[in-house]
Amino acid sequence: MPEHGIVIVGGGLAAVRTAEELRREDYSGPITIVSDETRAPYDRPPLTKDVLRGERDDTTLEPPEFYAGHDIGLRLGCGARGVDIAAQTVTLAEGTVLGYDQLVIATGLVPRRIPSLGDLDGIRVVRSFEDSLVLRGDAAAARRAVVIGAGFIGCEAAASLRKLGVEVVLVEPQPTPLAAVLGEQIGELVARLHRANGVDVRGGIGVAEVRGDGRVETVVLADGTELPADLVVLGVGSHPATGWLDGSGIEIDNGVLCDLTGRTSTPNVWAVGDVAFWRGDGHEVRVEHWSNVVTQVRVMVPTMLGRESLHDVAVPPYFWSDQYDVKIQCLGEPKATDTVHLVEDDGHKFLAYYERDGALSGVVGAGRPAKVMGARAKIADGAPISEILNP
Ligand SMILES: Cc1cc2nc3c(=O)[nH]c(=O)nc-3n(C[C@H](O)[C@H](O)[C@H](O)COP(=O)(O)OP(=O)(O)OC[C@H]3O[C@@H](n4cnc5c(N)ncnc54)[C@H](O)[C@@H]3O)c2cc1C
Repeated sequence: MPEHGIVIVGGGLAAVRTAEELRREDYSGPITIVSDETRAPYDRPPLTKDVLRGERDDTTLEPPEFYAGHDIGLRLGCGARGVDIAAQTVTLAEGTVLGYDQLVIATGLVPRRIPSLGDLDGIRVVRSFEDSLVLRGDAAAARRAVVIGAGFIGCEAAASLRKLGVEVVLVEPQPTPLAAVLGEQIGELVARLHRANGVDVRGGIGVAEVRGDGRVETVVLADGTELPADLVVLGVGSHPATGWLDGSGIEIDNGVLCDLTGRTSTPNVWAVGDVAFWRGDGHEVRVEHWSNVVTQVRVMVPTMLGRESLHDVAVPPYFWSDQYDVKIQCLGEPKATDTVHLVEDDGHKFLAYYERDGALSGVVGAGRPAKVMGARAKIADGAPISEILNP
């Protein structure tokens, strides 16, 4: 029987790092990456930052020689539209059927839209490179933008649009930016950062309507306030890209459901990255951040090859977000309901420790990289909060 090898569906960081790690672990069978994008796999964090601001035009993860040199097949512009788990095949959009010995699902996220706002031209999301280029083009002609949703994507887009000279209103139904993730106290410091840079931050209010004749002209808030706008950016979250798995029998629950090694309940099927929900042993990991992908790949790939991984998925999660001249970093699993100890705040940069059940659950800093990273061991150990507050 011919060896089908490993088929990886998805053309982002998780797909490329999985292929790379397989070769590093000396897997010598066929590897095929199948992506619905026509662009070679690229890095996404710069899309709301340097790419949007026109400071960078290439975030390609690996050059063409990487794929050739490691004998990795890269099929671009080929969306997968179904899996037959009994036959162990994946069907691509144009009808090609690929057999697999093992399948890795790495299809990431689909940005949410708000259907009730309609589809006027000028309502944008940022997930793909093309999205970022379109928004960059809009920004060059725009005077006023409304960013709906002050999560990380919305905050970063607001910051980049301001740097491009666009007037920005940032609208968020929660009282402050990032309130759901970091709580209102730290969210207020993020709001302060945006206000200091000229953004009109409106917390605690939603958007009722977007009006315009073919193209966006006015955003109407829930209280009737009308905001003139020639551009609207939606930063209202994403959902796992699992639609193509409907009816396959692969278990979906807030993403592709896996154990803590990336193994799904379907034989020879794995999932990794933003699309995956790793669950087990009291841990739940569905993290939509870059470093998590790298951690998961290091755990999953040796397991796929029947080896023990030297890595553990239960490392404290980490992410960063660049807004204006500040890098906001978050280590651990702070929750909005935790007690927040704001230990440094100079009006611009800050550092906060999060406490849950008496233990250090996480740290969030703006412009405080050494102190954020320095808390890693204590967070991993679940150290008492007093150990970091009174060292
Ligand atoms: C704008 C932006 C900024 C970000 N900034 C930060 C940051 O500052 N810090 C941080 O920690 N994280 C950041 N992230 C998150 C980080 O980029 C993601 O965690 C990471 O990209 C996840 O990689 P992935 O491979 O799982 O998913 P993705 O990168 O989304 O890749 C999934 C790929 O699968 C493809 N695909 C989907 N469906 C199919 C199908 N049916 N068939 C074939 N291919 C398919 C998609 O088109 C895509 O190419 C950011 C994300 C975005 C979008």
